[in-house]
Amino acid sequence: MDLCNYHTHCDFCDGKAPAEEFVKAAVAAGFHSYGISSHAPLPFRTNWTLERERVPAYLAEVERLKRKYAPVMELYVGMEIDYVTEEWNPSSAYFRELPLDYCVGAVHFVAGAGGEFMDIDGPADIFQANMRRLFDGDLRRLVEAYFDASERMVEAGGFDFIAHPDKIAMNALTVDAEVTEREWYENRVRAYFALVADRGVMMEVNTKVYRQRGMMFPDRRYFKWLGEMGVPLLVNADTHVPEYVNDGRAKAFEWLSEAGVRSTMRLRKGKWEEVAIND
Ligand SMILES: [Zn+2]
Ligand SMILES: [Zn+2]
Repeated sequence: MDLCNYHTHCDFCDGKAPAEEFVKAAVAAGFHSYGISSHAPLPFRTNWTLERERVPAYLAEVERLKRKYAPVMELYVGMEIDYVTEEWNPSSAYFRELPLDYCVGAVHFVAGAGGEFMDIDGPADIFQANMRRLFDGDLRRLVEAYFDASERMVEAGGFDFIAHPDKIAMNALTVDAEVTEREWYENRVRAYFALVADRGVMMEVNTKVYRQRGMMFPDRRYFKWLGEMGVPLLVNADTHVPEYVNDGRAKAFEWLSEAGVRSTMRLRKGKWEEVAIND
Protein backbone atom coordinates (compact mmCIF):
# COMPACT_ATOMS: atom_id res chain seq x y z
CA MET A 1 0.00 0.00 0.00
CA ASP A 2 1.49 3.31 -1.11
CA LEU A 3 1.88 5.59 1.93
CA CYS A 4 1.26 9.22 1.11
CA ASN A 5 -1.45 11.82 1.72
CA TYR A 6 -1.94 15.28 0.24
CA HIS A 7 -5.07 16.46 2.03
CA THR A 8 -4.42 17.83 5.52
CA HIS A 9 -5.86 20.66 7.59
CA CYS A 10 -3.65 21.99 10.38
CA ASP A 11 -4.30 24.92 12.74
CA PHE A 12 -3.75 27.47 9.97
CA CYS A 13 -7.37 26.66 9.05
CA ASP A 14 -9.76 24.25 10.79
CA GLY A 15 -7.28 21.48 11.70
CA LYS A 16 -6.85 20.68 15.36
CA ALA A 17 -3.04 20.72 15.67
CA PRO A 18 0.06 22.49 14.35
CA ALA A 19 1.34 21.34 10.93
CA GLU A 20 4.41 19.75 12.53
CA GLU A 21 2.25 17.30 14.50
CA PHE A 22 0.81 15.93 11.24
CA VAL A 23 4.27 15.66 9.74
CA LYS A 24 5.51 13.73 12.78
CA ALA A 25 2.51 11.39 12.60
CA ALA A 26 3.15 10.79 8.88
CA VAL A 27 6.83 10.05 9.50
CA ALA A 28 5.88 7.66 12.33
CA ALA A 29 3.41 5.90 9.99
CA GLY A 30 6.18 5.42 7.39
CA PHE A 31 4.85 7.81 4.71
CA HIS A 32 7.24 8.60 1.86
CA SER A 33 5.54 11.92 1.11
CA TYR A 34 2.98 14.20 2.66
CA GLY A 35 1.14 17.41 1.82
CA ILE A 36 -0.46 20.13 3.92
CA SER A 37 -3.48 21.69 2.19
CA SER A 38 -5.12 24.43 4.26
CA HIS A 39 -8.48 25.74 3.12
CA ALA A 40 -7.56 28.66 0.88
CA PRO A 41 -8.80 32.20 1.59
CA LEU A 42 -12.33 32.94 0.40
CA PRO A 43 -13.88 36.21 -0.77
CA PHE A 44 -15.79 36.29 2.55
CA ARG A 45 -14.84 35.42 6.14
CA THR A 46 -15.45 31.98 7.61
CA ASN A 47 -14.20 30.25 10.74
CA TRP A 48 -12.63 27.39 8.78
CA THR A 49 -10.37 28.95 6.14
CA LEU A 50 -6.87 30.38 6.11
CA GLU A 51 -7.11 34.17 6.13
CA ARG A 52 -5.30 35.95 3.31
CA GLU A 53 -3.07 37.88 5.76
CA ARG A 54 -1.80 34.59 7.18
CA VAL A 55 -0.84 33.02 3.84
CA PRO A 56 2.83 34.15 4.07
CA ALA A 57 3.14 32.65 7.59
CA TYR A 58 1.57 29.41 6.35
CA LEU A 59 3.99 29.11 3.44
CA ALA A 60 6.96 29.93 5.68
CA GLU A 61 6.02 27.35 8.30
CA VAL A 62 5.63 24.50 5.78
CA GLU A 63 8.92 25.58 4.16
CA ARG A 64 10.62 25.32 7.58
CA LEU A 65 9.17 21.83 8.07
CA LYS A 66 10.17 20.75 4.56
CA ARG A 67 13.79 21.48 5.38
CA LYS A 68 13.65 19.97 8.85
CA TYR A 69 12.10 16.68 7.70
CA ALA A 70 13.84 16.39 4.30
CA PRO A 71 16.08 13.54 5.48
CA VAL A 72 13.07 11.34 6.32
CA MET A 73 10.13 12.38 4.12
CA GLU A 74 9.16 14.59 1.18
CA LEU A 75 6.85 17.36 2.36
CA TYR A 76 4.72 19.53 0.07
CA VAL A 77 2.66 22.66 0.50
CA GLY A 78 -0.72 22.94 -1.15
CA MET A 79 -4.10 24.54 -0.64
CA GLU A 80 -7.64 23.28 -0.93
CA ILE A 81 -9.12 26.02 -3.11
CA ASP A 82 -12.84 26.51 -3.49
CA TYR A 83 -14.54 27.09 -6.78
CA VAL A 84 -16.82 29.97 -5.72
CA THR A 85 -17.37 32.10 -8.83
CA GLU A 86 -15.75 32.67 -12.20
CA GLU A 87 -13.59 35.26 -10.48
CA TRP A 88 -12.68 33.25 -7.36
CA ASN A 89 -11.51 29.71 -8.02
CA PRO A 90 -8.30 27.67 -8.39
CA SER A 91 -7.56 29.27 -11.77
CA SER A 92 -7.60 32.82 -10.35
CA ALA A 93 -4.36 34.81 -10.75
CA TYR A 94 -3.97 35.20 -6.97
CA PHE A 95 -3.71 31.43 -6.47
CA ARG A 96 -1.71 30.76 -9.63
CA GLU A 97 0.96 33.16 -8.38
CA LEU A 98 1.37 31.59 -4.93
CA PRO A 99 4.43 29.32 -4.60
CA LEU A 100 2.40 26.14 -4.00
CA ASP A 101 3.58 22.64 -4.87
CA TYR A 102 0.06 21.55 -5.78
CA CYS A 103 -3.58 22.69 -5.56
CA VAL A 104 -6.72 20.83 -4.63
CA GLY A 105 -9.95 21.92 -6.32
CA ALA A 106 -13.08 21.77 -4.16
CA VAL A 107 -16.72 22.76 -4.17
CA HIS A 108 -18.23 23.49 -0.77
CA PHE A 109 -20.50 26.36 -1.84
CA VAL A 110 -23.48 26.41 -4.14
CA ALA A 111 -25.37 29.57 -5.09
CA GLY A 112 -29.12 29.51 -4.55
CA ALA A 113 -31.91 32.10 -4.68
CA GLY A 114 -30.62 35.67 -4.99
CA GLY A 115 -27.08 34.37 -5.55
CA GLU A 116 -26.68 33.57 -1.86
CA PHE A 117 -24.23 30.77 -1.16
CA MET A 118 -24.89 27.75 0.99
CA ASP A 119 -22.27 25.38 2.35
CA ILE A 120 -23.07 21.81 1.26
CA ASP A 121 -20.77 20.37 3.92
CA GLY A 122 -21.35 20.74 7.65
CA PRO A 123 -24.32 19.83 9.84
CA ALA A 124 -27.32 18.16 8.17
CA ASP A 125 -29.91 20.41 9.86
CA ILE A 126 -28.23 23.55 8.48
CA PHE A 127 -27.97 21.93 5.02
CA GLN A 128 -31.69 21.13 5.12
CA ALA A 129 -32.68 24.60 6.30
CA ASN A 130 -30.61 26.23 3.55
CA MET A 131 -32.05 23.85 0.95
CA ARG A 132 -35.56 24.92 1.94
CA ARG A 133 -34.66 28.59 1.95
CA LEU A 134 -32.46 28.83 -1.16
CA PHE A 135 -33.72 25.94 -3.34
CA ASP A 136 -37.43 25.80 -2.41
CA GLY A 137 -36.71 22.47 -0.74
CA ASP A 138 -35.83 20.94 -4.11
CA LEU A 139 -33.00 18.49 -3.45
CA ARG A 140 -32.55 17.63 -7.11
CA ARG A 141 -32.06 21.28 -8.05
CA LEU A 142 -29.47 21.68 -5.29
CA VAL A 143 -27.60 18.52 -6.31
CA GLU A 144 -27.61 19.63 -9.96
CA ALA A 145 -26.28 23.06 -8.92
CA TYR A 146 -23.47 21.35 -7.00
CA PHE A 147 -22.40 19.28 -10.00
CA ASP A 148 -22.78 22.32 -12.30
CA ALA A 149 -20.29 24.19 -10.08
CA SER A 150 -18.01 21.13 -10.05
CA GLU A 151 -18.05 21.03 -13.85
CA ARG A 152 -17.27 24.75 -14.08
CA MET A 153 -14.32 24.13 -11.77
CA VAL A 154 -13.00 21.34 -14.00
CA GLU A 155 -13.42 23.51 -17.09
CA ALA A 156 -11.58 26.41 -15.43
CA GLY A 157 -8.69 24.19 -14.21
CA GLY A 158 -5.80 25.48 -12.13
CA PHE A 159 -5.64 22.54 -9.73
CA ASP A 160 -4.01 19.10 -9.56
CA PHE A 161 -6.79 16.95 -8.17
CA ILE A 162 -10.44 17.16 -7.20
CA ALA A 163 -11.36 16.91 -3.53
CA HIS A 164 -14.27 14.67 -2.40
CA PRO A 165 -16.12 14.83 -5.78
CA ASP A 166 -19.56 13.72 -4.56
CA LYS A 167 -19.43 15.12 -1.02
CA ILE A 168 -22.97 16.44 -1.36
CA ALA A 169 -24.19 12.84 -1.04
CA MET A 170 -23.42 12.92 2.68
CA ASN A 171 -26.08 15.54 3.43
CA ALA A 172 -28.36 14.74 0.48
CA LEU A 173 -28.83 11.24 1.90
CA THR A 174 -30.25 12.76 5.09
CA VAL A 175 -33.06 14.25 2.97
CA ASP A 176 -33.63 11.24 0.69
CA ALA A 177 -32.01 7.98 1.83
CA GLU A 178 -32.19 6.65 -1.73
CA VAL A 179 -31.01 9.72 -3.62
CA THR A 180 -27.79 8.10 -4.85
CA GLU A 181 -29.80 5.19 -6.29
CA ARG A 182 -31.99 7.47 -8.41
CA GLU A 183 -31.46 7.42 -12.15
CA TRP A 184 -31.09 11.19 -12.49
CA TYR A 185 -28.46 11.26 -9.74
CA GLU A 186 -26.47 8.42 -11.22
CA ASN A 187 -26.60 9.98 -14.69
CA ARG A 188 -25.42 13.29 -13.28
CA VAL A 189 -22.46 11.75 -11.48
CA ARG A 190 -21.53 9.71 -14.52
CA ALA A 191 -21.65 12.77 -16.81
CA TYR A 192 -19.43 14.67 -14.37
CA PHE A 193 -16.90 11.84 -14.18
CA ALA A 194 -16.88 11.57 -17.98
CA LEU A 195 -15.92 15.25 -18.14
CA VAL A 196 -13.18 14.70 -15.55
CA ALA A 197 -11.84 11.76 -17.57
CA ASP A 198 -11.96 13.82 -20.77
CA ARG A 199 -9.98 16.67 -19.18
CA GLY A 200 -7.41 14.27 -17.72
CA VAL A 201 -7.80 15.62 -14.19
CA MET A 202 -6.88 13.56 -11.10
CA MET A 203 -9.41 12.79 -8.38
CA GLU A 204 -8.95 11.83 -4.76
CA VAL A 205 -10.65 9.06 -2.86
CA ASN A 206 -11.40 10.88 0.39
CA THR A 207 -11.48 8.68 3.49
CA LYS A 208 -12.24 11.40 6.07
CA VAL A 209 -15.60 10.06 7.29
CA TYR A 210 -14.99 6.36 6.69
CA ARG A 211 -14.35 5.88 10.42
CA GLN A 212 -17.74 7.34 11.48
CA ARG A 213 -19.97 6.63 8.47
CA GLY A 214 -18.35 3.90 6.43
CA MET A 215 -18.44 6.16 3.33
CA MET A 216 -15.77 7.53 1.03
CA PHE A 217 -15.96 10.27 -1.60
CA PRO A 218 -16.28 9.29 -4.40
CA ASP A 219 -18.53 6.52 -3.21
CA ARG A 220 -17.15 3.03 -3.59
CA ARG A 221 -19.87 2.20 -6.13
CA TYR A 222 -18.12 4.50 -8.67
CA PHE A 223 -14.62 3.03 -8.34
CA LYS A 224 -15.20 0.59 -11.20
CA TRP A 225 -16.46 3.34 -13.54
CA LEU A 226 -13.57 5.57 -12.65
CA GLY A 227 -11.13 2.76 -13.34
CA GLU A 228 -12.77 2.05 -16.70
CA MET A 229 -12.80 5.76 -17.58
CA GLY A 230 -9.11 5.99 -16.73
CA VAL A 231 -9.42 8.78 -14.15
CA PRO A 232 -6.13 8.94 -12.19
CA LEU A 233 -6.93 8.44 -8.49
CA LEU A 234 -5.12 9.11 -5.22
CA VAL A 235 -6.15 8.21 -1.69
CA ASN A 236 -6.30 11.02 0.89
CA ALA A 237 -7.38 11.15 4.54
CA ASP A 238 -8.47 14.85 4.55
CA THR A 239 -7.29 14.69 8.11
CA HIS A 240 -7.89 17.38 10.73
CA VAL A 241 -6.21 15.46 13.58
CA PRO A 242 -2.70 13.95 13.48
CA GLU A 243 -3.84 10.53 14.74
CA TYR A 244 -5.87 10.03 11.56
CA VAL A 245 -3.21 10.58 8.88
CA ASN A 246 -3.63 6.96 7.76
CA ASP A 247 -7.36 6.63 8.37
CA GLY A 248 -9.32 4.43 5.97
CA ARG A 249 -6.35 4.04 3.65
CA ALA A 250 -6.06 0.26 3.74
CA LYS A 251 -9.82 -0.09 3.12
CA ALA A 252 -9.69 2.34 0.18
CA PHE A 253 -6.89 0.34 -1.45
CA GLU A 254 -8.77 -2.90 -0.83
CA TRP A 255 -11.92 -1.51 -2.47
CA LEU A 256 -10.02 0.04 -5.38
CA SER A 257 -8.26 -3.24 -6.01
CA GLU A 258 -11.56 -5.15 -5.90
CA ALA A 259 -12.99 -2.68 -8.44
CA GLY A 260 -10.13 -3.42 -10.84
CA VAL A 261 -8.22 -0.16 -10.29
CA ARG A 262 -4.55 -0.99 -10.80
CA SER A 263 -2.71 2.15 -9.73
CA THR A 264 -2.86 5.39 -7.74
CA MET A 265 -0.95 8.65 -7.98
CA ARG A 266 1.74 10.11 -5.75
CA LEU A 267 4.23 12.95 -5.73
CA ARG A 268 7.90 12.10 -6.08
CA LYS A 269 10.53 14.82 -6.33
CA GLY A 270 7.77 17.29 -7.11
CA LYS A 271 6.17 15.34 -9.98
CA TRP A 272 3.03 13.24 -10.03
CA GLU A 273 3.65 9.62 -10.86
CA GLU A 274 1.62 6.45 -11.07
CA VAL A 275 2.26 3.61 -8.61
CA ALA A 276 0.84 0.11 -9.02
CA ILE A 277 -1.53 -0.77 -6.16
CA ASN A 278 -0.07 -4.19 -5.59
CA ASP A 279 3.56 -3.11 -5.49
ZN1 LIG B 1 -13.12 19.92 1.50
ZN1 LIG C 1 -10.28 19.32 3.15
